[in-house]
Amino acid sequence: MKTKIKKGDMVVVISGKDRGKNAKVINVFPKEERIVVEGVAMKKVHRRPRKQGQKGEVVSLPSPIHSSNVLLYCKNCGKGSRAGFKFLDDGKKVRICKKCKNEI
Ligand SMILES: [Zn+2]
Repeated sequence: MKTKIKKGDMVVVISGKDRGKNAKVINVFPKEERIVVEGVAMKKVHRRPRKQGQKGEVVSLPSPIHSSNVLLYCKNCGKGSRAGFKFLDDGKKVRICKKCKNEI
């Protein structure tokens, strides 16, 4: 299954501790079918000091999650939805919401 999710998409998390969160995709790894979603699967990362005399710090960063753990957010339906594709008359392929058939 190829992921239909692109960077900048709004998605709804459907599993894990961040279930129900509605957030923006900030990175996509198509080969691994993994995505990074803003504020989801936050992980503490220790940062080494860059300069001498500077202290290392602990920052929270979102870690990649599998794309099957999210649904695309459909503005029209107001919730997460499965996405499909359809071809326009001019042959252009667009992504649609399977529920309302609107472009998402
Ligand atoms: Zn919809």
